[in-house]
Amino acid sequence: MQYSQKDISTIENANIVSDLPDKITNDKRWDKLQDVEIPEHLKDMVKKKDMEHRYFNDTRFWQKIPYFKNVSKDEFMDVHFQNQNSVTKVDHLDDLLDELVDPSFLEDVHNGMIKAPMNIRVSPYIMSLINWENPLNDPLRKQFIPVASDFKPDHPKLVLDSLSEQEDSPVNGLVHRYFDKALFLPLDVCPVYCRFCTRSYAIGSDTDLVAKLSFKPVPNKWHKAFAYIASRPEIEDVVISGGDTYMLTPARLRQIGELLLAIPHVRRLRYASKGPAVLPMKILSDKEWSQALIDSVELGRKMGKDVVFHTHFNSPNEITDITREAMLYLFKHGVTVRNQSVLLRGVNDDPEDMIHLVRKLSYMNVQPYYVYQHDMVKGLEEMRTRVSDSLELERIVRGATAGYNTPLFVMDAPGGGGKRDLHSYDYYDELTGISVYRSPSVDDSKIYLYYDPIDLLPEKGKKLWTDPKKHNDLINDAILQSGYKELEPAL
Ligand SMILES: *Cc1c(COP(=O)(O)O)cnc(C)c1O
Ligand code: SF4
Repeated sequence: MQYSQKDISTIENANIVSDLPDKITNDKRWDKLQDVEIPEHLKDMVKKKDMEHRYFNDTRFWQKIPYFKNVSKDEFMDVHFQNQNSVTKVDHLDDLLDELVDPSFLEDVHNGMIKAPMNIRVSPYIMSLINWENPLNDPLRKQFIPVASDFKPDHPKLVLDSLSEQEDSPVNGLVHRYFDKALFLPLDVCPVYCRFCTRSYAIGSDTDLVAKLSFKPVPNKWHKAFAYIASRPEIEDVVISGGDTYMLTPARLRQIGELLLAIPHVRRLRYASKGPAVLPMKILSDKEWSQALIDSVELGRKMGKDVVFHTHFNSPNEITDITREAMLYLFKHGVTVRNQSVLLRGVNDDPEDMIHLVRKLSYMNVQPYYVYQHDMVKGLEEMRTRVSDSLELERIVRGATAGYNTPLFVMDAPGGGGKRDLHSYDYYDELTGISVYRSPSVDDSKIYLYYDPIDLLPEKGKKLWTDPKKHNDLINDAILQSGYKELEPAL
């Protein structure tokens, strides 16, 4: 059997042509290969759909929004254009979507904003990738724009700052929870505001519901964080998050890298950003910023230290040909990129979507590192999944691609237990939705409890939560069954 043109065309929907050097393309040995008889296929040819991850949207997709109809590619690629035209008020949304959506949708958003604990900030890039014909079900709309009709009451066991980060903060803006890792939060702004943000207790400006703590980017405050890190010889690994490192000026980004790398015991740095998912063009058009990142990576390498970049893609819909180019740029400049996703109901909890995301990231040389069980955050019950749903998803995803590109499904244990392999619970009851975890490396005297969203529990389980007087019995029973009743529950 010969590999026919027809076979090839069934899988050919990729717009990626790897730029092979002429030397290889013209190599006569390839012609010889054409004459070799191909062994009989034991597997059916794959379907076009299964190769979807190789397709990267390279159209002028933004021009379908009337407001951006005349925006050229150059203009769209300019990060200033993106920032200036980001939607930060619901009124902007009204103007932008006037002809695109039903007025009832806008009303739904207005009502949603009243309940939401976050402000909004949505780039033209993301606005253009939302399917406005069906915004209620769109995975990007769900991440960034609240609607009242989605709203579900909070779980009764939910608290603000569910990760208790403040208890592990020796100075404002630094979390030292694990033995050798620290989390540095240099600023409180982001290129986008995610509704599901764990740090909604600190990120973005004040809204009616949450009077926020302030992490204003006062470099003096940073010095305290650096002094603390320098005074703790066990810290080898610093995560620089935020807010979001996309919002640091190139000079500041470089400065943080240099100061931290200069501390002898600091061996590993990670810059974390949601930016590539919402403003991928910045990497290509704000070359000063990308260069600062690349320089930090190179400085680290010269010193024998590892500096990498962590992204936060949640949906394959966030990824276009602009993203591919941006990630390729970093790859060619030697920047290791890893991704951390948050598992969100209706966004990426469908196996097909998660596999698509994982393969698409891998195709761009972005390593899927973690998928987080959604934290217990206010006003977001409709976005959480049950532990059992997440574990089922993991079973399906594992094996879909290389093991090193297969994300580990983790939960950040409420009450400050840190990240736990989702599978590693000591007890889990699908009826009450209560799971019990231990985290000996963080605190071996405690147990950590997570609660599945009540609306997804079986009817009998839902009934168990209707009487607040019985909640403690449910919890105590779970603790008893876990076999760790001598340990103290964290929250
Ligand atoms: C997530 C996190 C880290 C990094 O953890 P890894 O599992 O190594 O990715 C460090 N400190 C804090 C407080 C964190 O939340
Ligand atoms: S970019 Fe990160 S820190 Fe900022 S709102 Fe989103 S999840 Fe939170």
